[in-house]
Amino acid sequence: MNYDRILIRYGEMSLKGRNRKHFVTKLKKNIKFILQEYSNIGIESDWDRMYVLLNGEPAEPVISALKNVFGIQSFSPAIKTEKDIAAIRAAALHIIQQAHSPGNTFKVSARRSDKTFEYDTNGLNHAVGAHILINVEDIKVDVKNPDINLIVEIRQEAAYISGEVIQGAGGFPAGSSGKAMLMLSGGIDSPVAGYLTMKRGVGIEAVHFHSPPFTSERAKQKVLDLADKLAQYSGSVKVHIVPFTAIQETIHKVIPEGYTMTATRRMMLRITDEIRNRQGGLAIVTGESLGQVASQTMDSMYAINDVTSTPILRPLITMDKLDIIKIAEDINTIEISNRPYEDCCTIFTPPSPKTRPKLEKITHFEQKFAWDASLQEAVENTETIMVSARKKPLKDDLEDLF
Ligand code: ATP
Ligand code: MG
Repeated sequence: MNYDRILIRYGEMSLKGRNRKHFVTKLKKNIKFILQEYSNIGIESDWDRMYVLLNGEPAEPVISALKNVFGIQSFSPAIKTEKDIAAIRAAALHIIQQAHSPGNTFKVSARRSDKTFEYDTNGLNHAVGAHILINVEDIKVDVKNPDINLIVEIRQEAAYISGEVIQGAGGFPAGSSGKAMLMLSGGIDSPVAGYLTMKRGVGIEAVHFHSPPFTSERAKQKVLDLADKLAQYSGSVKVHIVPFTAIQETIHKVIPEGYTMTATRRMMLRITDEIRNRQGGLAIVTGESLGQVASQTMDSMYAINDVTSTPILRPLITMDKLDIIKIAEDINTIEISNRPYEDCCTIFTPPSPKTRPKLEKITHFEQKFAWDASLQEAVENTETIMVSARKKPLKDDLEDLF
């Protein structure tokens, strides 16, 4: 007897009454996509559960892939049996024998949505628990803090028995809440900002500003590697690489030194907004955190934000660096972010950028040059790369996901 299915609990998205159908459909599609290399797998969904039917595919890799899927609160590998006490006991015993080592404790947590079943929850706890105690040596019951929590669920169509509840990634299914453009540098913060936004169900496309020869192919590869980590959560991430050298050089010719950083950010934001417009995105995401560096003071944000009325999401705005690093460690982006590289901004950053730039001043300085043609050119020459979590060719059309 082996696990034949994985029972998935939706969690937070179940609160969203009206949108629920949409979320469930999206989640199903995302799970299908992430598990597409396991061709025998089937997925069934109902109002409050989803089942991944293994049909002979291995449980282990499927379980680890499911841990990254947003919209799953928790999941349990389970055995389906008939609603027959002998079959339920046999499955329960099998699960305990697989998980048990001497001295372990267990409890049975029975739940019953089919109230016509011959045992009530108490009766089930006892009937199954006694069977385990009789057949397994050196095991005890501990209802408070058991090593193994055996879950027995009696539903209308069948009984499901499972030995563990695995924490899911939480949040909402990727792509269920529109699309945003993530300004992705090679630093620690922006990938974390992307991850947190994706967790709320937002589909992400990344925009990266690249200034060859001042920034190298290595710097570009770093961003693609970061996008690859983010793609583990959504299946794929489109990365727009914007050639930014010419604009940066112009900035350094025409803008006074204390304001080059502000101008650089404003140009980046204008370009990102134009790409967003073309791609049908609804917001821009950055890794800014209040007070971290000169560009992230309130005055700076005020002067930079002025170029667009598009919503800018800043998931890290009030977070401490240590908390951001903790998330970067959890999502495995930290090692990539810590690779040495040249950032287009740091290379051109003057020794002392203004921490309190004035909007009137930067708009005045920018008037010395007609930027539109250069901005347009940068957008036109942007290279778009699809980064996919799966290395082998995809069956489904990626565009389909978002
Ligand atoms: P990060 O760790 O994300 O690089 P940071 O703390 O180094 O952030 P800044 O360098 O001031 O802060 O960048 C602030 C935000 O601006 C970044 O989080 C990112 O969203 C965006 N950004 C900076 N550089 C680039 C770049 N080269 N391409 C795209 N976006 C960028
Ligand atoms: Mg940075």
